Amino acid sequence: MAEEVYRALCKTMAKRGGMFPGMDIPEFYELVQELFTTEEAEVTNAMPRGFSPAGVIAEDMGKTEEEIAAILEKMADKGLCISGKKGETIVYGGPPFVPGIFEFQFLRGTETEKDKKLAKLIGNYKAEVNAVRGPSKESFPTMRVITVDRTIKAGNQIHTYDQVASYIDNYEPLSVSTCYCRHQAKLVDEKDHCGKPDDVCMQFGRGAQFVIDRKMGRKITKEEAIEILKRSEEAGLVHCSDNRQEIDFLCNCCSCHCVILKNAIAQPRPGLAVNSGFQPAWDTELCTACETCIERCPMDALTMSEDEVPEVNLDRCIGCGVCATGCPVEAIVMEERHGIPVPPVDQKAFKEAVKASMA
Ligand code: SF4
Ligand code: SF4
Repeated sequence: MAEEVYRALCKTMAKRGGMFPGMDIPEFYELVQELFTTEEAEVTNAMPRGFSPAGVIAEDMGKTEEEIAAILEKMADKGLCISGKKGETIVYGGPPFVPGIFEFQFLRGTETEKDKKLAKLIGNYKAEVNAVRGPSKESFPTMRVITVDRTIKAGNQIHTYDQVASYIDNYEPLSVSTCYCRHQAKLVDEKDHCGKPDDVCMQFGRGAQFVIDRKMGRKITKEEAIEILKRSEEAGLVHCSDNRQEIDFLCNCCSCHCVILKNAIAQPRPGLAVNSGFQPAWDTELCTACETCIERCPMDALTMSEDEVPEVNLDRCIGCGVCATGCPVEAIVMEERHGIPVPPVDQKAFKEAVKASMA
């Protein structure tokens, strides 16, 4: 019975897609038996697409609403489903592993024995999925980079979705939690840390409300959010989010641990896998050839030219602006990069764009 439920769970998680969908390999079953009880796996298998109240799921399972609501509440606390409100009704949705369930496990930044075990099991699963399927194929990007606002050259056309500051202005509430990628690495091996700040993983609007409700992070003011961005930019971290104009989260990523950038680096042309729609341009008069930008670039996209001015490989450049924020003489500005698709407006438009890219 339990075996059948977990096999069905593999199909459920395969259908949910994402960066690491369900795959019928031993590492999947080792992991999900640690994450989900049998009854949580059964409820997960019964959850329809989108968000539904507990009563709808209960009816489908032939159980009482109270019984299923209690299980769903525990699952939301464990980060196995998402909860929110439609009017006055609590509704529940089933996220993929990534972005979703895997990240929720480490946002609190705790270091229990269970956390350490889960971190290893998740790491094993991701490694085996990558080994079985090989490098990801280029399709419509699931994530994007948002360039550092203040590095964009005056006169460029800048949309609200190009600007992190506009998200801070327009969304309520805002929250911050621990970077799950750096924290997961540390749980597996306490020496595996790059020294970049951990408390910089940000959520917006309904994403923030879920994180606050489930005590996975804390509510922050707009001033604190700006301070977090500043600290991240100084540390050379890259702003990454969903590849749509409405966002739920903003990760401040390092290329050594973060799944979004590591996945991009593994592709033949990372500059097309995640991109902000901007590229660096140099003021050759100002540049002193100090090479700080080359050292800071997380994608190894820069080399020094014979003319002693850095040059960019656009196949590798993701348009993050980290080179520009580190330049001591402000010789770099970010200019519009043509040919990068505009982020889809919402989740529906995003799914259509992914489908079209695979046709
Ligand atoms: S950091 Fe600035 S000054 Fe130094 S090489 Fe890069 S562009 Fe030139
Ligand atoms: S050159 Fe490197 S640091 Fe600069 S925008 Fe491109 S990827 Fe970012």
